[in-house]
Parts: sequence; structure tokens; C-alpha cells
Amino acid sequence: MFAKILVANRGEIALRVIRACREMGIRSVAVHSTADADAMHVRMADEAICIGPPPAADSYLSVPNIISACEITGAEAIHPGYGFLSENANFVQVVEDHGITFIGPSSAHIRVMGDKIQAKETMKALGVPVVPGSEGGVPDMEAARRVAAAIGYPVLVKATAGGGGRGMKVARSPDDLEIAFRTARAEARAAFGNDEVYIEKYLGRPRHIEIQVFGDGRGGAVHLGERDCSLQRRHQKIFEEAPGPVVDTPTRARIGQVCAEAVARIAYAGAGTIEFLHEDGAFSFIEMNTRLQVEHPVTEAVFGVDLVREQIRVAAGLGLSFTQDDLQLHGHAIEVRINAERLPDFVPCPGRVKVFHAPGGLGVRIDSALYGGYAIPPYYDSLVGKLIVHGRDRTEALARLNRALGEIIIDGVDTTLPLFRDLLAQPEIQAGAYDIHWLEQWLARRPR
Ligand code: ADP
Repeated sequence: MFAKILVANRGEIALRVIRACREMGIRSVAVHSTADADAMHVRMADEAICIGPPPAADSYLSVPNIISACEITGAEAIHPGYGFLSENANFVQVVEDHGITFIGPSSAHIRVMGDKIQAKETMKALGVPVVPGSEGGVPDMEAARRVAAAIGYPVLVKATAGGGGRGMKVARSPDDLEIAFRTARAEARAAFGNDEVYIEKYLGRPRHIEIQVFGDGRGGAVHLGERDCSLQRRHQKIFEEAPGPVVDTPTRARIGQVCAEAVARIAYAGAGTIEFLHEDGAFSFIEMNTRLQVEHPVTEAVFGVDLVREQIRVAAGLGLSFTQDDLQLHGHAIEVRINAERLPDFVPCPGRVKVFHAPGGLGVRIDSALYGGYAIPPYYDSLVGKLIVHGRDRTEALARLNRALGEIIIDGVDTTLPLFRDLLAQPEIQAGAYDIHWLEQWLARRPR
């Protein structure tokens, strides 16, 4: 096992990893920008090292600075968290070349899954159902017209390098196709420096359901069921739950097994998430994330496992601490993302937190790096915490979430908390009857 791990991240996810290290008796190294000198992850780690000025490009995204921090502190492994360099195959390659262990899959697997066309082709070949669409990239308008006519409108033009919902345009009819094709390419070129696009069937009212998989690094793999992350605004998830309200036990076992077998066949090592759109009972693959997800705690709650501990074990060559048969799903868990944003327009709203009071009691977990007096810096993501509840069933989890939302206090900055208090009162949320468009439609109907 490693003696020392460097955590190449900040905020709640850095704390999350530091906590796992502490429980495993591993020393942790925090890295931070000058803007984060007072951050909680810096206080909680065994050691901390400054890696640059506030802009992420010069600190949390600086490969040389992070490698130097590893060498100076003698850390043997790097945990990337999510975001920043976590899915950057070039970074992982550099880490591997320096003889440092990357806590995650190989650079080769990250590279394949980071290219959405390659990812889709790989999954299809492994027997995973995919959204109907073009065979590979679509080079020009003529090809786009042919493909769209064959699969039927509406279609979605998507960037192979896409992420964060960028480089994605819907064409509802042949008249829209040219503009969708051109704007998706232009957006992709500007955002990712790669304007290759592909086309797939646009599903009208799907749910976003993702399967947590884990490769053991020895050729085996397991699945840990699904998370329903359909409640999204601008393709950003804000509320996630496990199990999914529309997934029953046989369906979970079936799609879970397909996913576990697929990653086992490519000898994938570590945590991964296979994302699907689910409509009319059918799962269609959209992408794979080769890292820990923001919403991993709902899976941890229902399966009673520490996914970060398992990531570290697999990276150290020790395999998983459980088998598929050991994994039993218990109860229901829900996570809500607390962003420092002002409603109704979700405008980022950094500033000084006056009071932070965390809710508590049975089945309540808070993952947050906030503390009273902390100044949220303006340079980074606005996620400042996650509230996760676990109950015997969905009804109890909802009641517990409502109770915890009544206890939590964040004074001094605006957050998205008031939204969840209203959201929970909606009959569709109570019933679990929502698709990926429901949240935006509800937000548009709300009095401002
Ligand atoms: P990104 O990497 O940019 O997040 P994804 O492929 O994961 O892109 O898609 C993000 C979101 O876009 C999905 O969760 C879903 O809401 C929507 N989406 C993607 N593909 C389709 C599709 N074929 N039909 C309808 N909606 C889609």
C-alpha cells in the first residue's frame, strides 16, 4: 500500500479523498493555489504545497507543478478527484512516465473514452446498447443529410471531443440540419480544438441513468447498480438518486452485468461510470466517465462501500475488497448539489460565508469544504457542498432530505438550497416521475 498520496484537486472532493487516506493510514498531500491557502483541504491534509496562482490553468491544471509537488513531497500516487486533470490522458501519461501511480484507469483507456466516437464504437463492439446514429464521424453536410434521413428526425449533432453539454445541437427537421451541423462544429472547434462531430437520434423524453462499474485491475469487474441523474439544468446534474425510480431488480442485474462484462473485457482498472439515456424501457449508451463522479456518495450509501478506498486498493494492485455477490443494495439515497449561486438565474455568487451549520442525524451526510468565515474564491466551480441522505426506502429518503434541508444553514452567500425545498414539494419529484427535460420546464414555469 502507498505511504503517501497527493490529491490533485480542491474543495469537497479533495476532502473526500483525504478522509479515505486517513482511514487507511496513508499520509495525504494537499495542493493549492494561492487563492486556496485557507481552504479546508489544506488544513485537513497531512502536508500541503502551493502549486501556483489563482487561475486553475496555472495551478490545478499545471502538469509540471503537480509533478514537482509529488517529487518534492515524495508522494507515490496521485488521486485526481473529478474535473481538472482527472480525464486528461496526456497528464496521466506524464504521471506514468514519472513512475508515479495514477489512481484511476490507464491513459489508454482514458484516451479511448474521451473520444466519444471511439467510446461509442468500443462499447457497441462490447455488446453495450448505444443510441442509433452515424457510424463514426460525419465529415460534411452531404453525409450529415444522408445519416439524418436514415435515422429519422429529430437528430442531435454532437462533438466527439464534447463535454459539459458543449458542442451539441438538435436538428428537428432537414431545414435545421445545416445550422445545427455548422454551429456544433464551430462550438467544438472553439471549445476543444477539434471539430469532428457525429450524429445520433435525439431522444425526446429520456431519463439519464448511469451504471457505476469498477475494474479490479486483475481482469475482473463488478457493477454497483445505477444512479438516476435526470434532474439537470443545462446538462448539469443537480439532484441524483440510487436506486433509479424506474429500474427494477432484474433490469439492474441485466444492464449491470452487460456493463461489468464490457469493462472486464478491456481490462479496465478502477472506478468508471457508463452513462445511458433510458426511454421506453431501453438503455442507450451515451458516454463513459473514467473517474469518480460527483454523485458517487449515493452509490456508497446504498451499497455500504467506500469507493475511494477501493480506487486506492485497485491502484495499489490489491484488487477490490468485495465481489459482485457481496454487494447488496439497501434502501434509497438522494444527493443534492449545493452551489454558491443566486436564484433564479444561477449566477455564481462567491463571497464570505458567515455561518455554516451542517445538518445531522441518522442517514445524513454532508460532503463540503465550507466553514464559518471561509471566503469562497471566485476562480473555481460553484459547487460548495453535497447533501446526501439515506433511508430505508424512497419515501423515507425524501422525508429525511426535507428534514435535513430544514436544518442546514449557510449564511453570507446565496446558494441553490431554496430551490430544493420547493423541488421536494412537487408531485413529480415525490413520485419519481421526471425525465431530463422536467427540471428546466419546471424552472421556466416558476414565478420569478
Ligand atoms: P457531455 O459530455 O457534454 O455531458 P453527454 O453525451 O453526456 O455530453 O450528454 C449530456 C446530456 O445531453 C445528457 O445527459 C442528455 O441530457 C443530453 N443528451 C445527450 N445525447 C442525447 C440524445 N441522443 N438525445 C437526447 N438527449 C441527449
